[in-house]
Amino acid sequence: MMTMHPQTPDILPRVAFVATGGTIAGTMTEDSKTSWAYSSAQRSGESLVMGIPGLLRRAQWHFEQPYSIGSQNLELGHMLQLRAVLLRLLESPEIDSIIVTHGTDTMEDMLYFLHLTVPSHALGKPVLFTGSMLPSDHEQADGPGNISGAFEFLIQCLSTNADVSGHSAMPFGLCMQGLFTPAHRVEKQSTAGLDAFDGPYSVLANTQWLLSRNALEMSEDSGVQGQFASLFDPTATRHPLFEAMEVPVVFCTPGNGPLRQLTDLLNRKPASVVVAAPGHGNIPEACVPVLRRLLLNGVSVVRASRVIAGGVEQGGEFDALDAFRQAPVQGGNAVFSEAGGLNLSKCVMYERLRVLAHSLSV
Ligand code: ASP
Repeated sequence: MMTMHPQTPDILPRVAFVATGGTIAGTMTEDSKTSWAYSSAQRSGESLVMGIPGLLRRAQWHFEQPYSIGSQNLELGHMLQLRAVLLRLLESPEIDSIIVTHGTDTMEDMLYFLHLTVPSHALGKPVLFTGSMLPSDHEQADGPGNISGAFEFLIQCLSTNADVSGHSAMPFGLCMQGLFTPAHRVEKQSTAGLDAFDGPYSVLANTQWLLSRNALEMSEDSGVQGQFASLFDPTATRHPLFEAMEVPVVFCTPGNGPLRQLTDLLNRKPASVVVAAPGHGNIPEACVPVLRRLLLNGVSVVRASRVIAGGVEQGGEFDALDAFRQAPVQGGNAVFSEAGGLNLSKCVMYERLRVLAHSLSV
């Protein structure tokens, strides 16, 4: 009697599935009708793929799980660990494309870190992150749809690229709810709702994304792809100096809170401080003397905003620290700058890497 083998011809795409935890691998701890309590990071990547009818036999899967966490617990060491895994898979001749499942809470931190630290030349394969807002056993679970959506997009990209030989146009970013957002543009827009990542730079996840590619780029002062790639070895999973780099955010509300926090920082002397000021980065006058002292003590200052959209550019009402824009003028290392289009979490990541790069080259 003939045995039927599942169809796994060699032409099936070789997809690495890297699971890291998150709600997409989460399960409910109580009846969702009475409570929405759940625990994230409960299931393996393999079980997530096996839970989607027909998906297992559509690719040659390679499963990896560097760690399994709720991504609110993400540490800088995890970021290096995942970077090392991705660099290895990007290099591997056995792998055509990569799907990463990740918690949504720090999706943007991870993707922006990778945007700045993975060399552009390494990104010759589709790398699609996905996650979910509801746990895997919720009756409206969005994880399976998001994984399938990422898989379909990846298949399209692989077959299109066959025609576009020599021109690397592989997507690197987040695929959720049928939309693709490039890594550096990913931002959680809402704490709830399946469309939490639909943002102004999200486009339909199909090969047409390439047409919008230029519009999705960001200005160079906000960090270019691979800008800090040489800071870490490809296999590095620890970097004590990077992990020690402190960049606090001082959030300005009326009252003396911000001034007190900045004064405390004079003792701590972090690498840099991000001031989330009202409006277009309008830092309260009372804070200016202490910011000057911080700058003179080697602490960089970034003028950012507590407003979500619009960013902060040079100019406008605040010019009190303009003399510190170029560090050599003051004879020190610290600089004063604006956040540009970066949100607060990206601004902190950029500063960590910028100061690290600066201190290593000195
Ligand atoms: N706390 C979860 C996490 O980021 C939230 C999610 O995945 O949606 O891991």
